[in-house]
Amino acid sequence: MTVRTTCPYCGVGCGVLASPDGQGGLTIKGDPDHPANRGRLCVKGAALGETVSTAGRLLTPRIHGAKASWSTALDFIADRFTDAVTQHGPDSVALYVSGQLLTEDYYVANKLMKGFIGSANIDTNSRLCMASSVAGHRRAFGTDTVPGLYEDLELADLVVLTGSNLAWCHPVLHQRLLAARAARPQMKIVVIDPRRTATCEDADLHLPLAPGADGHLFNLLLCHLHDTARTSAAFLPHVTGFDAALTAARASRPEDTGLPPDPLRHFLDLWAQTEKTVTVYSQGINQSDSGTDKVNAILNCHLATGRIGRPGMGPFSVTGQPNAMGGREVGGLANMLACHLELENPAHRAAVGAFWNAPRMASRPGLKAVDMFRAVEDGRIKALWIIHTNPAVTMPEADRVSRAIAACDFVSVSDIRADTDTARLAHVLLPSAAWGEKDGTVTNSERMISRQRAALTAPGQAQPDWWQIAQVAQRMGFQGFDWASPGQIFAEHAALSGIAGGLGSDFDISDLASHDYDALSPVLWPQGPTQRGGRFFGSGRFHTPDGRARLVPVAAALPARRPDRLTLNTGRTRDQWHTMTRTGLSPRLSRHLAEPYLEIHPEDMARLGLMPAGLVEAKTDAGCAILRVLPSDAVAIGHPFAPIHWSGQTSSAGRIDALVEARTDPVSGQPASKSMQVELRPFAASWFGYCVTRRDVVPDCDYWASAAIPGGRQIEMAGAAIPTDWSARFRNWFGATPDMTLVDPARGLFRAALSDEGGLVAALFVSDQPVRLSRAHLGDSLTRPDPAILAGHPGETTPDQGAILCACFEIGVNTIMRAIAREGLQNVEAIGVALGAGTNCGSCRPELRALLARSLPVAAE
Ligand code: SF4
Repeated sequence: MTVRTTCPYCGVGCGVLASPDGQGGLTIKGDPDHPANRGRLCVKGAALGETVSTAGRLLTPRIHGAKASWSTALDFIADRFTDAVTQHGPDSVALYVSGQLLTEDYYVANKLMKGFIGSANIDTNSRLCMASSVAGHRRAFGTDTVPGLYEDLELADLVVLTGSNLAWCHPVLHQRLLAARAARPQMKIVVIDPRRTATCEDADLHLPLAPGADGHLFNLLLCHLHDTARTSAAFLPHVTGFDAALTAARASRPEDTGLPPDPLRHFLDLWAQTEKTVTVYSQGINQSDSGTDKVNAILNCHLATGRIGRPGMGPFSVTGQPNAMGGREVGGLANMLACHLELENPAHRAAVGAFWNAPRMASRPGLKAVDMFRAVEDGRIKALWIIHTNPAVTMPEADRVSRAIAACDFVSVSDIRADTDTARLAHVLLPSAAWGEKDGTVTNSERMISRQRAALTAPGQAQPDWWQIAQVAQRMGFQGFDWASPGQIFAEHAALSGIAGGLGSDFDISDLASHDYDALSPVLWPQGPTQRGGRFFGSGRFHTPDGRARLVPVAAALPARRPDRLTLNTGRTRDQWHTMTRTGLSPRLSRHLAEPYLEIHPEDMARLGLMPAGLVEAKTDAGCAILRVLPSDAVAIGHPFAPIHWSGQTSSAGRIDALVEARTDPVSGQPASKSMQVELRPFAASWFGYCVTRRDVVPDCDYWASAAIPGGRQIEMAGAAIPTDWSARFRNWFGATPDMTLVDPARGLFRAALSDEGGLVAALFVSDQPVRLSRAHLGDSLTRPDPAILAGHPGETTPDQGAILCACFEIGVNTIMRAIAREGLQNVEAIGVALGAGTNCGSCRPELRALLARSLPVAAE
């Protein structure tokens, strides 16, 4: 039976039709009736069916590595938490949760900590993602309210994307935007980003501003709006603080933006003169030690012009995770209470406490993520429960955080896998139900609540997170945690929101409390007696005490720089998600960018002695990493970029957050993850290797990075010292002597392969230079017999298609380039007709456009 559910990846929140295939898998299609995507899916969503395998799943609870019953494991956790609270007080325990949780999971966790344990020490990995947007919203609007809707991007005449690589990070929303511009060509798209991202390929204007200069840019815009009389006389009575914000903005100078005068002036005029303007922002704004100020600099401009809460205009924060918004709604951050109420407000606390019949309400904010792990490190936190997140990889100063978790008195981890970097450190492991197996709701970036529904039975003894938390709560002796289903939790959450609405909260979904949960269709909040869906603030009424919005003076500052170092930017790749525990299972998704890399300008490479496809050691005051060198003029000189996805399971030294120092925004507590001062030097490799293997191998060498391929894994390798006996090393890694070898000591070349009755077991290719063989060809060799495997490239009748660019149809760069040259293809549509590339999810269309731009004498499209 086909199940209507929601994608578990980004904040677009696309509807998915999932049909069990009868063999434990799922067939996936976009839901044509879901308002967020109308049937579209990006490549990650389309590949969901390839990630639901139960291989590697945690199937039973474990205590100190040994299997345990649920009852024993839950009692164990409840006892440890109770002991800590009794001996050291409520603030000695903490929950660290995730934007991957469903709203019902989040609600139960928040109720337990803030209402019953009596501490607000619950924080979420959303702190690393969009806490600055929350703080900026609350400063300006009085509440954490996203004013607009996705359709505003389609109705606008100008869409400004700042700190947002929408094409890769929110692909379906990007496709909607491009479709709208195709229908209304007068619409303009401006991308503000120091890096020339895939999103820039579709922009009418790319402003490569100086890293971190967004506050200056929007300060200059506020001044320009005032100086050209573009502020709104009708709306200004609905705001306070304009004069102070303008005075502060005057300190910003055009040269602070790093932009040439003409494009800067063009942007300021365009924004000032275009009434229907939407400013979209994301992690590029939030992940800064002045992220909240940057958010407010943007909001200031929209408030000064009254461009908010009306069709086709407004500031728009797009969230990274599928349920970052749901977490905000239940108060999943350490400084918030349920339903957008305030923890510090006695009336709010009293109302929530009475509704929950809570014995011990937290009365002050808890520890935000960075501070929480500092408290774990120094022993203030005695018991920690980490749910559906991997802080040993993703927290700033990840090595330090790993050590802190390892040394904590008691750590329990709920996850779908037992082998994540964090799960390996736990005393108790609880097997969680995965996407496709659990039921609940999520809220996307435009406030749309959608159901996630189970299409598969959870394997082994896996249980949903809400059940695990509720069971521990009951074992700690607390009442009010005896729900029988997530629908009952949702009804309680919705009922509480009605009380919150009565206290002036924007979040009121009380009319959904009695709704048929199983049949719930995607619905925009609010859904209370006084407002249903729609936009906020168009009337000029805000959730502040005087009803007026607050402009915030922004003293813009550029990130501190060290003259002897480069500034490292970080972000996502197109086809991977977080630490790859799910997307990393799909060979198709792993073929786009299969290795941790550093994108760096050729001039920096020359100065630092880095070679293309060589390896680089990156070092900050927090830690180090080894990455593949990817030359690129898409990044500015002095500003390399590295993706965030690699963990200790997929690489020896590719954890980027090991490099990130724990510098945080003073208002939001969000870490600055995009401006590390990094020292780079070549990694002195004496040999480079590449292997494909069916065996589960972790090579003992200085550098390795592993990725899924059909039938097994491919591993890139390198080492500082050359092994004395490659055949012996082959035996160590793959369990038997190779049955084919090819050796050329003069070139440092060693190639070997091992087969059995099931086909190729492993093939290893070693060279004294980076291994220049066809990954596209070798990556299929475990499922495609090739007697000439050691040649390392396809035969003459099978052209090498190169790195996969279109993941839907698995079409490589070389194939596309050949077709462009052979058939004279002039645009992306022609490539689609000739090869099919770019005609399904559309995620690769910006890269196709970039290829055309490189290969044609005139600009494509
Ligand atoms: Fe999932 Fe892609 Fe839609 Fe995001 S854009 S929700 S990753 S299908």
